[in-house]
Amino acid sequence: MARPIVAIIGRPNVGKSTLVNRLCRSRDAIVHDQPGVTRDRSYQEGFWADREFTVVDTGGLVFNDESEFLPEIRQQAELALTEAAIALIIVDGQQGLTVADEAIAEWIRSYDCKALVAVNKCESPEIGLSMAAEFWRLGLGNPYPVSAIHGVGTGDLMDKVVELLPPKELDAEGKDNIQVSIIGRPNVGKSSLLNAISGENRAIVSSIRGTTRDTIDTSIIRENRCWRLIDTAGIRRRKSVQYGPEFFGINRSFKAIERSDVCLLVVDALEGVTEQDQRLAGRIEQEGRACLIIVNKWDAVEKDTYTMPIIEKELRAKLYFLDWAKMLFTSALTGKRVEHIFRLASLAVEQHRRRVSTSVVNEVISEALSWRSPPTSRGGRQGRLYYATQVASAPPSFTLFVNEPKLFGDSYRRYIERQLREGLGFEGTPLKLFWRGKQQREVEREIARKQNNTPS
Ligand code: GDP
Ligand code: GDP
Repeated sequence: MARPIVAIIGRPNVGKSTLVNRLCRSRDAIVHDQPGVTRDRSYQEGFWADREFTVVDTGGLVFNDESEFLPEIRQQAELALTEAAIALIIVDGQQGLTVADEAIAEWIRSYDCKALVAVNKCESPEIGLSMAAEFWRLGLGNPYPVSAIHGVGTGDLMDKVVELLPPKELDAEGKDNIQVSIIGRPNVGKSSLLNAISGENRAIVSSIRGTTRDTIDTSIIRENRCWRLIDTAGIRRRKSVQYGPEFFGINRSFKAIERSDVCLLVVDALEGVTEQDQRLAGRIEQEGRACLIIVNKWDAVEKDTYTMPIIEKELRAKLYFLDWAKMLFTSALTGKRVEHIFRLASLAVEQHRRRVSTSVVNEVISEALSWRSPPTSRGGRQGRLYYATQVASAPPSFTLFVNEPKLFGDSYRRYIERQLREGLGFEGTPLKLFWRGKQQREVEREIARKQNNTPS
């Protein structure tokens, strides 16, 4: 599913990066105090409730003496706005309404996107409401008081953002649309599988032109869901393009992965896992997509009763980063097990979208802690894991609140992930774990306290 874009717009220093950090729960955007520092547009993934979107920080809109935007920055922001579903205008509540905010609001109105005003630096919810009130004058609807630093009001703001996002696509019968891609290097049997899937079953409902010029997406109803097969072009047209058969459009595959809810990663049973397969698999995991591994050409393998587990073990050793994905052995040629593809993909999608209550997560965590205590540093400091909560789905993402993330090495982090999987399932989907420290939280609070004491 192509993610809708939320463009963050505002003057320098109103707290755009801080808010992006909070919305995307990452620390990638850099917070700085210098106004007018030009940045490239930064794209980050955000998620809230069951929705995913891309957050674009346009950089601060700086004005020259004639109250015009600096051209380079304006251009960046314009580019972002033309593709945005929502413009999120950030203003500084402590500073109050400025002429520049008014100019920005007027400019935004000329774009065909929904707009929302977030009034930042409103640490107190009560005072915040009255601080936010004057931004009604921008004519962009109800202003939302928030504090990017403390997180006050950001939940309400995100509820509104999600409400304004374009609806998830539903097919004519109101079924869930699932974007699925068949990923793999040339010659593993992707087109043959696609034919086998569509041939044996006459449920193809439509061929719809895809969003990009030379792709054709096909919809199939299976397992009571509408599957939109993303054509990676490599599938249908490979033979007609001018490139040689060795040409492998890996970027095209990467794009298809990005658009997918679930990826069917096809590998060749005869050739095993190559480096190209590993790169595709790595990307699927990195993008947080659900996945089913299809080992195709199973008919051509000489085998006895023990062959399947032996081959599975060999393949898995090289695809260790997809150890959570199910493996299905098929033959596109004979049709063997092809009918299981959508059943297993469906299970993976369900897990990908699953949510688990905080109390259940913490039962698993406390069990995990009693089997194995967090590591202790050389200086004798003991890692402490206070509690955990699922903060998003698709893929299921958890924040773990700890005293100091540094104390938790890779092996303990992997242990916790394994325990979450053992306790909660999640077969077919990657998980994301965020380790959040106490110090980090205190620094954030300290900055906020200082800023509240400085008159602005
Ligand atoms: P940007 O230039 O709009 O991206 O702004 P930054 O995110 O870099 O923040 C500018 C300054 O405002 C920094 O010193 C932040 O610490 C501060 N700031 C950001 N959010 C808040 C907030 O919610 N409350 C207060 N009091 N200060 C904030
Ligand atoms: P793609 O490049 O991944 O789309 O692969 P194709 O579907 O074009 O298949 C490449 C070659 O593998 C063709 O010669 C197919 O006939 C053959 N092939 C595909 N699937 C199977 C299979 O399940 N068994 C065997 N033996 N050959 C297959």
